[in-house]
Amino acid sequence: MTPRVAAIIAAGGRGARLGASVPKQLIEVGGKSILLRSVEAFVAHPEISEVVVVLPADLAADPPAYLSRLSRRVLVVAGGPRRQDSVANGFAAVSDQADLILVHDAARPFVSADLISRTIKAGADFGAALAALPSSDTVKLARADDERECPAVDRTLPREQVFLAQTPQAFSRDVLRAIVAAASGARVATDEAALAEAAGYPVRLVRGDPGNIKITTAGDLDAAQARAAAEERMRMRVGTGYDLHRLVEGRPLILGGVVVPFDKGLAGHSDADVLAHAVTDAILGASAQGDIGRHFPDTDPKWRGADSLMMLADAAALVREAGYAIENVDAVVIAERPKLLPHLDAIRSSLARTLSIDPGRVSVKGKTNEGVGELGRSEAMAVHAVALLSARAGTE
Ligand code: MG
Repeated sequence: MTPRVAAIIAAGGRGARLGASVPKQLIEVGGKSILLRSVEAFVAHPEISEVVVVLPADLAADPPAYLSRLSRRVLVVAGGPRRQDSVANGFAAVSDQADLILVHDAARPFVSADLISRTIKAGADFGAALAALPSSDTVKLARADDERECPAVDRTLPREQVFLAQTPQAFSRDVLRAIVAAASGARVATDEAALAEAAGYPVRLVRGDPGNIKITTAGDLDAAQARAAAEERMRMRVGTGYDLHRLVEGRPLILGGVVVPFDKGLAGHSDADVLAHAVTDAILGASAQGDIGRHFPDTDPKWRGADSLMMLADAAALVREAGYAIENVDAVVIAERPKLLPHLDAIRSSLARTLSIDPGRVSVKGKTNEGVGELGRSEAMAVHAVALLSARAGTE
């Protein structure tokens, strides 16, 4: 039978070791608080039915608004003086139907769905389990009560038996009830598994995740920010654009805002800048914001004879407002004549200026159609464009 799983997110402390002015759990990493990242990981997990968040009493009385905007309701309760008291308060708020309870430290905001699943499985199989990493360092046990400066080594632990505890930790309802009862005394524990061991319950280790770091020191916070920035860069969106305009006499030929000397020009409602139009569609497409026709309809007299670079600049602003940065743009202009090569640098600079990005991020190539068809007979010009966007913090 699949267990009903509850998660307790322990965020009852303040993280004094970080030396920040706000409680540690509210510090933002990549535009999102440590607390929200941790809570979201469990709210979004398909095997978890309920989430209880334990906050310091003052925060629990006035919790951050984002906790009420999650896809699933979370229960916020006030913590106690020690971690185990906070977990006890969280456990009291867990519903009677939950038969497996995960306890996770909010200071580990990068917990993966896979690690949560593995911990649930081991907890369901064995009654008590925790994520832990095998030690890659040799571990020395210092003598108890020895001096702090240069303590004497008592012995070296066999490395293959040494594991470093992480969270989540998973307990059956019965085990957690026993732990909570045992923890009401004077004994102070840094994790719940230690209490389970002390109470005589067998506890199993689940392969942890090196990325599941605990943010304790300023150095940890720096590492977390670097990791969030790297994840950010990975959130890319690609878009494609295409446009075609007829070539007619008596109009200037405008490509990417640059007037290219030629005996014909492109026909259209605006200045018919086929390149600007295709690039506009590519960036709008990458941010899933429709196309040029939706934002700048050719039925609107406002755009008659309009400078298409204005539309491109407007589209770039829309893309930025939606939370994206333009990484690069590449376009192919299919034109039998005139030769575009002498104009490409000016066209690239013009597009880059309009998009407010470096010209090194804009590429435009000319291509003939080998004399084939309407394009080959210079009856029309067509452009294919692609754009790559990256999502900024908090966009997705
Ligand atoms: Mg067009």
